[in-house]
Amino acid sequence: MTGASGVGKDTIRHAALPDIENLFFSISATTRTKREGEVHGKQYYFHSKEDFEEMLANDGLLEHAEYVGDYYGTPSKPVLEALARGQDVLLELELVGARKVKEKMPEAIMIFIAPPTLSELERRLRSRGTDSEEKIQKRLSRAREEIKAVKEFNYVVVNDLLTRAVRDFKSIIYAERVKSKYIEPQDIARFLKEL
Ligand code: 5GP
Repeated sequence: MTGASGVGKDTIRHAALPDIENLFFSISATTRTKREGEVHGKQYYFHSKEDFEEMLANDGLLEHAEYVGDYYGTPSKPVLEALARGQDVLLELELVGARKVKEKMPEAIMIFIAPPTLSELERRLRSRGTDSEEKIQKRLSRAREEIKAVKEFNYVVVNDLLTRAVRDFKSIIYAERVKSKYIEPQDIARFLKEL
């Protein structure tokens, strides 16, 4: 899932995940400083630039990107292990990272979380009170770039009303899971026998 910082991705995810079985959320690594209340290993793995670069050099990241002066990346191992266990994996990525994942894993489903308006996004970023004016402007400019790329995504969820956004997000996952391409050959054979 991709969407500007401040658009409510975390809130949607927290509300939706308890209702979706077998979905593994990948915790990203980042070099940005912790916000109040954030815990290492919960929202992110917080690392120094040196540690992050070492992870990169050791091929430990599935993708990574720079965002408003910091690095963000997806640790490969937990994602590959979850996939091997048969779980679906949810990644929260900005646009550059989302494109890289799509390139590596074309079967990935891209979901864009959009704010109702850019001015509402700006209001949400300011009310969070964690970023300098300069960073807010940079985040807004990235948000504009991401919105321009909305057609690259399979789905768009507008977070105007949280309950509706959560419903839409869950519907996407449920619908993707019952696509006919996932029907096992033995199930098709069983249907055919009854014709
Ligand atoms: P924030 O600083 O607001 O937590 O995140 C900034 C941006 O980085 C958001 O757009 C968020 O989705 C994105 N992001 C978080 N984790 C990752 C990651 O592992 N890889 C990439 N490419 N972007 C990430």
